[in-house]
Amino acid sequence: MHHRPLVVANWKMNGSKTLISDLEIGLGSSVLPSTVDIVLLPPSVYLAEVVMVAQQYGIQCGIQDSYVEEKGAFTGEISAEMVKDVGGEWALIGHSERREYFSEDDDLLARKFEAAVRADLRPILCVGESLEDRAQGRALEVVKKQLNSIADRVGPSFSRATVAYEPIWAIGTDQAATPDQVKDMHIAIRRELEEIDPSNGPQHRLLYGGSMQAANASTLLSIDEVDGGLIGGASLDMGEFLGIIAKAGEQ
Ligand code: PEP
Repeated sequence: MHHRPLVVANWKMNGSKTLISDLEIGLGSSVLPSTVDIVLLPPSVYLAEVVMVAQQYGIQCGIQDSYVEEKGAFTGEISAEMVKDVGGEWALIGHSERREYFSEDDDLLARKFEAAVRADLRPILCVGESLEDRAQGRALEVVKKQLNSIADRVGPSFSRATVAYEPIWAIGTDQAATPDQVKDMHIAIRRELEEIDPSNGPQHRLLYGGSMQAANASTLLSIDEVDGGLIGGASLDMGEFLGIIAKAGEQ
């Protein structure tokens, strides 16, 4: 690990008042490693409440999705500025579920990235190949294209990006990528980041996401090129999530 570890919880469209009280109880009864940065991304309706809990523990929060405009007649949407207003600090951009189920293309993702930066949120850009891409030997090509598509469109603000490598086939499947697959891809992404953004390439934190759990977290987080994890399913179980944070603290 070359940077301070970062563990990010993506609750997706899960969570409830009960989960927030589980979070409160879990955080209140554990000693969090001071060496780990923790970020929670709850559904937007819970953001303000989760921020209130999280900030007592030095934990930051953010949003899974927000719109590109600052305000106006966009019924149903929320802006990055609103996220910031209620204490959010981070914005997830380009999760494969948004790309696939909501047809978010690179143009829209780049605008969302820029909107996040405009509001002083820290964007976490997700990239990752499908099983078919990997089977056809195109995993790296796909991931490089995803990175470059956003970098070309957003220009210098790309330096603000944290990158999460999330192979689509590993998300929610209980089948994390192997350490070799993660290592190879992270080395390649790091090289690409250094080309895209020569002055900041080494500074970007590079997370792994895809079926990370307390049981495999040490193996995945001990890979030199991995700076932390983006956690979906396991972030909904406080025992699991706190277990991953503890493992990150041991790196
Ligand atoms: C994710 O949704 O970003 C993710 C990594 O999910 P899971 O941990 O459930 O695979």
